[in-house]
Amino acid sequence: MITIALSKGRIFDETVPLLKAAGIVALENPESSRKLILATNRREVRLIIVRASDVPTYVQYGGADLGVAGKDVLDEHGSAGLYQPLDLNIARCRMMVAVRKDFDYAGAARRGARLKVATKYVQTAREHFAAKGMHVDLIKLYGSMELAPLVGLADAIVDLVSTGGTLKANNLVAVEEIAPVSSRLVVNQAALKVKREMIQPLIAAFARAVAAPAG
Ligand code: ADP
Ligand code: MG
Repeated sequence: MITIALSKGRIFDETVPLLKAAGIVALENPESSRKLILATNRREVRLIIVRASDVPTYVQYGGADLGVAGKDVLDEHGSAGLYQPLDLNIARCRMMVAVRKDFDYAGAARRGARLKVATKYVQTAREHFAAKGMHVDLIKLYGSMELAPLVGLADAIVDLVSTGGTLKANNLVAVEEIAPVSSRLVVNQAALKVKREMIQPLIAAFARAVAAPAG
């Protein structure tokens, strides 16, 4: 049996075509089913539905053999025990620093001001500002980061941005890109050895589908 960990929403939606190219079709839709284990057309392959930030944990400890996780999540989690053979080029966005439109970020950075930064991505933010030699107080949030600068909880946020629509709707602007983000295939290193005959063809099929996306 091969277990693949996915999260609901865009990662599931954008992984479906890649699975299909590898001959794998889920028998249920996670958006409408309450099941957390989904059977597929292949008896030896099942999908599990977990929180996006839990995918690396399931794969690392062997609760799943493979998974799809954003680079944002992998950078926060660390890569211990995880083999990352493939950038799937899906769920693309950017990790950005954003502030209120009326906040002078460049000026604050130049003056060496100590900034309050709210984010779900504490490790990523810590490394980014340390590399720039900026002093920051990090405030851990679990969602709706955009709110923090509006109510004075923080001067800046570190968050994912794709269209910028949410920032704009909340009078924020992106002032710095930390890194481009896309989702990666992650594989449990022990599973790769023990189940190589099943996992290696899957990785190869995913790689072909990424290189030549079907219309
Ligand atoms: P959760 O709400 O569980 O934190 P999301 O569904 O918001 O997770 O995001 C899951 C993953 O999708 C993220 O880890 C990231 O890699 C990717 N992602 C998040 N926001 C965007 C976005 N705006 N555009 C593209 N991909 C995104
Ligand atoms: Mg979300």
